[in-house]
Amino acid sequence: MKMEVMNGFVVVKDTFKGGVHPKEWKELTESKPLEIMPLPKEIILPLQQHLGNEAVPIVKKKDKVVLGQIVAQPVGYISAPIHSPVNGVVKDIKSVPSPFGFPKKSIIITPEDSETKQFFEPLDPYTITSEQIIERVKEAGIVGMGGASFPTFVKLTPPKDKQIDTLIINACECEPYLTRDYRIILERTDEFLAGVKLIMKALKVEKAIIGIEDNKPKAIEILNKYLLSEPSIKLYVLKTRYPQGAEKMLIYATLRRVVPAGKLPLDVGVVVQNVATSLSVYQAVVEGKPQIEAILTVSGKGVVEPKNLIVKIGTPIQEILNYCSGLKQDASRIIFGGPMMGVPVFDLRTPVIKATSGILVLTEKETRRGESLNCVRCGKCIEVCPINLYPTKLARLSEFGKFEEALKLGIMNCMECGTCQYNCPSDVPIVHFVRIGKNKAKNLKIS
Ligand code: SF4
Ligand code: SF4
Repeated sequence: MKMEVMNGFVVVKDTFKGGVHPKEWKELTESKPLEIMPLPKEIILPLQQHLGNEAVPIVKKKDKVVLGQIVAQPVGYISAPIHSPVNGVVKDIKSVPSPFGFPKKSIIITPEDSETKQFFEPLDPYTITSEQIIERVKEAGIVGMGGASFPTFVKLTPPKDKQIDTLIINACECEPYLTRDYRIILERTDEFLAGVKLIMKALKVEKAIIGIEDNKPKAIEILNKYLLSEPSIKLYVLKTRYPQGAEKMLIYATLRRVVPAGKLPLDVGVVVQNVATSLSVYQAVVEGKPQIEAILTVSGKGVVEPKNLIVKIGTPIQEILNYCSGLKQDASRIIFGGPMMGVPVFDLRTPVIKATSGILVLTEKETRRGESLNCVRCGKCIEVCPINLYPTKLARLSEFGKFEEALKLGIMNCMECGTCQYNCPSDVPIVHFVRIGKNKAKNLKIS
């Protein structure tokens, strides 16, 4: 690994193979402090806000609910409870537009106020045990906020035969436009780092690495200052490269460990968590607060006033966009998340969920694509695929229904990062075809 130690932090001079460096657009919001958005008129809580089983409502229409109260219980091991982010009344429980692109059953609450109450008993971070941290994270309904929304307590409970030696915190925020994690590092440094230490304690590991890209000098400076007295947490400054924040890329960039296809970070002794998740762990343990808020970036050339916001989960994007002074005339597409991996939203009633990291509004000019042309076999998609897949071939196999062949070529390992498509001169919708192929191939067996 080409690296050097400078002023206490580690500078990694090379990184994973492949990847791209899209225009960052961070300047639209990086200097905007986190702002607490006022209460919305309506809260919409989809029962599915995490990977795993959908939660089940334990309230009914016209029930009064209080801030922090559980309104939906988890089902089975991989699931998470949902808490009311306000005091209010249950207006309805029905299917409404969701961030998943189709309607999902949701609890709709009319808020009355969000007067602060004690949710859980605050716990002492110095005397708390690993088991108590994991239990609190579970009851607080925390899910990963790096994109996958996997229930965090599950990641903190690796199987007994998997020895974890390192916690890696993903502070890369490598998607263009997003600056939420950056603002958390600048404004909530103490709480964020206390959250990292709680996760280390939960995992019983002695070592943590914070991986950050070199396009965030202010955050690097602040973290470095704090970490001078924390020898167990090392700061690794990485070359800015998308998708550096993907778990496999980050593990390779910092530790040079390769997570084999079909395996997980815990198979190489690592757990990866995100900045916002670390803050939530701190809030759940030390402040006794369940996951009832999302911290997100609202950005893009199509929104009048880009901001970094703290909003109640369940807030419809229409209200968030109104708070950001509305849409510009040429606004054309709204995306949940960043431009590379985010999902388009077609209904402004769609609510923010626990893992929402951003709302991006693109203009007509930005979204106008030329017609997709035929593949010219230039190989540019292959050059940049960070996990050495053959994107053009996978897309073609899917397009022509050859799913078994696509399975043999590793289609299920594609993380849908969009890097190949970004680099394609013919605008071939590679990820679209790969997604279809993965969906069809997932139940097939390699013969
Ligand atoms: S979307 Fe899939 S095939 Fe394309 S670069 Fe990412 S991992 Fe590779
Ligand atoms: S980058 Fe596009 S045009 Fe080039 S080989 Fe890949 S799919 Fe074909």
